Amino acid sequence: MSVAQSTTGAGAVGVPVDTGWETVIGLEVHVQLRTRTKMFCRCENRFGAEPNDLVCPVCLGYPGTLPVTNQRAVDLAIRLALALGCEVRRRSVFARKNYFYPDLPKGYQISQYDQPLAEGGGVPLPSGNTVRIHRLHLEEDAGKLLHEVPGGGPLPGRSLVDFNRCGVPLVEIVTEPEIGSPADAQAYLQVLHQVLLYTGASDGNMEEGSLRCDANLSLRPAGETALGTKTEVKNLNSFRHVAKALEYERERQLHVLTSGGRVEQETRSFEPATGVTRSLRSKEEAHDYRYFPEPDLPTVVLSGERIERQANRLPELPWTKSARFRDAYGLRSEEAALLSGSVALATYYERAVAAHPQGKRTIANWVMTELLRELKERSIDVEQAIAPERLAAVVALVDSGELSTTAAKDVLAEAWDSSETPDQIADRLGLRQVRDDSRLEAWADEAIAANEKAVTEYRGGRQQALGYLVGQIMRASRGSAEPRAAQEILRRKLADGGQ
Ligand code: ADP
Ligand code: MG
Ligand code: ZN
Repeated sequence: MSVAQSTTGAGAVGVPVDTGWETVIGLEVHVQLRTRTKMFCRCENRFGAEPNDLVCPVCLGYPGTLPVTNQRAVDLAIRLALALGCEVRRRSVFARKNYFYPDLPKGYQISQYDQPLAEGGGVPLPSGNTVRIHRLHLEEDAGKLLHEVPGGGPLPGRSLVDFNRCGVPLVEIVTEPEIGSPADAQAYLQVLHQVLLYTGASDGNMEEGSLRCDANLSLRPAGETALGTKTEVKNLNSFRHVAKALEYERERQLHVLTSGGRVEQETRSFEPATGVTRSLRSKEEAHDYRYFPEPDLPTVVLSGERIERQANRLPELPWTKSARFRDAYGLRSEEAALLSGSVALATYYERAVAAHPQGKRTIANWVMTELLRELKERSIDVEQAIAPERLAAVVALVDSGELSTTAAKDVLAEAWDSSETPDQIADRLGLRQVRDDSRLEAWADEAIAANEKAVTEYRGGRQQALGYLVGQIMRASRGSAEPRAAQEILRRKLADGGQ
């Protein structure tokens, strides 16, 4: 296939393009842990403070200060590692990663190198593919460079440094180089994001940088086992950006390779506005980090009991919950995945089902459409939604034929902000469907009397005429007639020949 052809096909996420080249992706994800204080000092770990308000001699790297390991960060990292199926090492070692940058006052970052906190593991994706994890280690975040005055204007030719983020606890999670598409890379990040929230390891707030991703991609001839030369796109902070950057890189490398060139190993940045990646530095400019064990910190030694304590605090994980929803409630995989997207939504759904067990499938539909739409419209979380039992009561009225779907939407809208029961609302609004024979018969007689032409047509064998007559009953009853019962009565009357 030519490059031009592949360009049109590659845009669609998840559609493999038969170019003769195989895509290989590996992700390095940085996650800020949800601790009260920083990794090695007692400064607050909080986003949004005034620049340089959350600093001390330790995180500013003053000579003579000593770091102290935040044990809460270690525990959260253990819990996250266990959730991801990693093997947690009983002994892991902090190391200095040396490089110069203005946001790094110590001149080195404390990280872990050859003895990380955890190794192995993996997560299943909704697609059925699994992403294997290579390692998970603890480290500290760096500060942030600002190129304009916060709340003010640009600063031509100058930069400011905010050290508040310096020393914020991070976990870095590195996958094996075997993710096969940008779509799977995005799906992995979404599952990982769910795990962060499920376990409480991080607030997962991507706008605030709590989850950042470096995306590595290479191509190799299909069937080849050796890896091709990769490029790394740095610092992506949204799911869409990761997919877009990888799609761009895949196309760019494909173009280089199919025109006989060689991919240069380099680090690139992504421009969201244009969807383009640009070279930041090539391999020749790569850092030599001169890693060595951090002399100021003891080895992290974990007892079996300590690891066990975190294992006991693991919740049911997203993929397990999703599979259970599918099997227990008869949902399709995509529905189960959507409803287990957050613990709050999953809990909501299960509480509603508990209130109306026969409605497990109908409730799923109502939650995925009506509820989510209303949450979006009101810009609120599921915790602020109408009580799940009340939603279940509305759905129960539909399931029993008391309310049409349209009428039920009106009842739900009223029930959201009132204290009346859905039953009371249905009665007050006169929305209950009429199945009572005497009233339906009266409407049917009226419709038959007033529509001679349709009656004759129906008797002459034209079935559609019956639909027209049902429509007349719906009109006369202002939508309250139960359509199936109305149709039955019409059929009977017209068959009798009676009026
Ligand atoms: P580096 O030393 O450049 O950071 P690593 O070997 O530590 O490279 O891998 C970093 C990330 O890049 C990992 O997620 C890994 O899976 C991925 N990776 C490594 N080599 C390749 C490759 N040839 N193609 C795609 N991804 C790769
Ligand atoms: Mg790297
Ligand atoms: Zn500090």
